Amino acid sequence: MRIDTVLLKVASRCNLNCSYCYVYNMGDVSWRSKPKLMSATTQIAVAAQLKSLFDSQGNPFAVVLHGGEPLMLGPQRLASLAETLRGALPSTCSLNIQTNGVLLTSPILDVCSQFGVTVSVSLDGPALIHDKHRIDLRGKPSHAAVMAGLRALRSHPSGQSMFSGVLAVVDPTSNPDEVYQYFKDLCAPSIDFLYRDGNWDSLPSGKMSGNTSEYGTWMSRILDLYVSDPQPPRIRFLDDLIKLVAGGAGSKEGMGITDFGIVVIDTDGAITKNDTLKSTPLGDRFDAEWSVYASDLAQVVRSPEFAAYHVAQRPTSPFCSSCADLSICGGGMLTHRYSEESGYANPTVYCTDQRILISQIRRHLAAHIAKRAAA
Ligand code: SF4
Repeated sequence: MRIDTVLLKVASRCNLNCSYCYVYNMGDVSWRSKPKLMSATTQIAVAAQLKSLFDSQGNPFAVVLHGGEPLMLGPQRLASLAETLRGALPSTCSLNIQTNGVLLTSPILDVCSQFGVTVSVSLDGPALIHDKHRIDLRGKPSHAAVMAGLRALRSHPSGQSMFSGVLAVVDPTSNPDEVYQYFKDLCAPSIDFLYRDGNWDSLPSGKMSGNTSEYGTWMSRILDLYVSDPQPPRIRFLDDLIKLVAGGAGSKEGMGITDFGIVVIDTDGAITKNDTLKSTPLGDRFDAEWSVYASDLAQVVRSPEFAAYHVAQRPTSPFCSSCADLSICGGGMLTHRYSEESGYANPTVYCTDQRILISQIRRHLAAHIAKRAAA
């Protein structure tokens, strides 16, 4: 068992209230009883546990500061956390922040630069698309504030090395041509697309049924634009799927049959499963109720309960077991497989979408091979 990614929930609150957020708007209310920010004492306990985890497994992992909105920590607390983590972990363990971008200011960026923290910004596209769902606590749009944050990031002396890319949640009702051109013009170092959270009982917004392909059709159009573009932006979602279709390995959770070791540590020090599982009634808590104060993280990840959570990433549905695309799709993310009737023993609710997109990739690869053979 090897951990690849540690998500540190350093803030349990957010300055935005995105309509599709699994933390606040999909039924889970555990955030209400959590400390608003991870305290200095918890930060020290977390750093000690992560050091012990690294010593135990010998392989580096990525530490991602997450929330809520992690920049609600403010520059001083962020500096103390980054310094503590850098003091405990080797430089091979990366430090990253996933932020909504609104609080990206010079003092925050100076801290990120000082401690080698990279920054990924959530941005769904141009204002009309982004502001449909990414609104603040008063219902006001956030796009202009995110763009101001991005400008601050890019104009910082270390902006180029700090900016790791943007993360966009797909709105299948938007115009993919418009979204593609927007991100191409943005010249971000990389773009990643995410499907919205949902499951067989609670369909993701924009899907009419589990058998329709709104997301797959939308992503296929992005793929067509990507493939025909002589200078495309880097789109990790597509790069991974194309590699998998061509027989290689992916690098993302929820694609291919690679197992990713993910552990989450909450603001109170609780050790939990991948927190996207909050969007299902089964939730993200371990029965053992581990915490960085009372448990040894290195032992936690070697425990039978953790192993069962880890193995659950592999699809158990008979549909997936006999699917020709299993090694590429991997059954999707665990949270997207849920139904009350059969738990996680289902294909992803995006099964039809993934099949359409994978077929389109195959068509493009075949056309590419034929073109080269004819040349
Ligand atoms: S979710 Fe669908 S496409 Fe993916 S492996 Fe399962 S059956 Fe195949």
